[in-house]
Amino acid sequence: MIATSDSPAAPPEAVSIGDGPSTPMAAAGSVDRPAGVCGQVVWPYAIAFLLFHAALPLMALPWLFSWTGLLMVPLGNYIFCSTGIGLCYHRTLTHRGLVMPKWLEHSFATLGVCSLMDSPARWVAVHRRHHQHSDHQPDPHTPKAGFWWSHFEWLLRENAETRGMAFYEKYARDVLADRYYMAIERYYLWAWIYGIHAALFFATGLAIGWATSGSYAEGVRFGASLLFWGVVVRTVYTWHITWAVNSITHTYGYRNYETSDSSTNHWAIAVLTNGEGWHNNHHAEPRAAAHGHRWWEFDMTWNTIRFLKAVGLAKEVVEPRVWKKAAAGALRS
Ligand SMILES: [Zn+2]
Ligand SMILES: [Zn+2]
Repeated sequence: MIATSDSPAAPPEAVSIGDGPSTPMAAAGSVDRPAGVCGQVVWPYAIAFLLFHAALPLMALPWLFSWTGLLMVPLGNYIFCSTGIGLCYHRTLTHRGLVMPKWLEHSFATLGVCSLMDSPARWVAVHRRHHQHSDHQPDPHTPKAGFWWSHFEWLLRENAETRGMAFYEKYARDVLADRYYMAIERYYLWAWIYGIHAALFFATGLAIGWATSGSYAEGVRFGASLLFWGVVVRTVYTWHITWAVNSITHTYGYRNYETSDSSTNHWAIAVLTNGEGWHNNHHAEPRAAAHGHRWWEFDMTWNTIRFLKAVGLAKEVVEPRVWKKAAAGALRS
């Protein structure tokens, strides 16, 4: 176990990240839902949640199946979720663990929008609040208020504490200072981006299927297959593995660091999320762009960042302090 008293300085935003809990409550025990939560349902989220899940039994339809569509689930997870959400929303925009050229950052953020997990500003604001109060009141999604609460229920219930301009002003001012992210927020661009990317999946499948088979009907079938597997199934899949970081890796697994929350590392969640499952490491050093700290804690997203750095597309990459200590120790010995 490694102590975390030397956590890195907070990124430059209104609220400090990784400062630990607002109250000295122990990680064990239960926590009430945030006081701002009322019984009101967030209907747009609830309807999307129900419709996407209700479509899943269509997986049994042979007409909708294609190996390409199936391949788009893990491939789409990497492209839209790991680079869009993990690398961009999380490690770049929320924690400022690296800096990319704006065109690349915006491109990755656009891929993140295609995961249908909120706009960049809202995702960042909620996640910063989670780090500020991890597993203590008023963490928006601690499993100490219920496992399923942390997995998805918190998204479907109105929480007055995570709405309104004051919330964005406090937690995501730096993100909304960027005109592209402000436009995504203000003009609901996220809905257009998601819709257009879904249409592109269908159109690409239609064109390829029609061209290769000479049959329009086969083109429609292949397009529908890519739309269903590559967009609908992949979206639900990436929802659940991302939500598992809030639920499972605050409940099950092992800990490298004595953090004041109940965050854990879980190898299966890390494999599925391309590195986000090394969550105890992440809570110990939120700014570090690498979430796998031990040699065997494989982090695909970190390897992507290393590649970007090697080709000159990422700079100011923050590495875990434990690596620097290990390197210094090796030099001394
Ligand atoms: Zn967490
Ligand atoms: Zn984080």
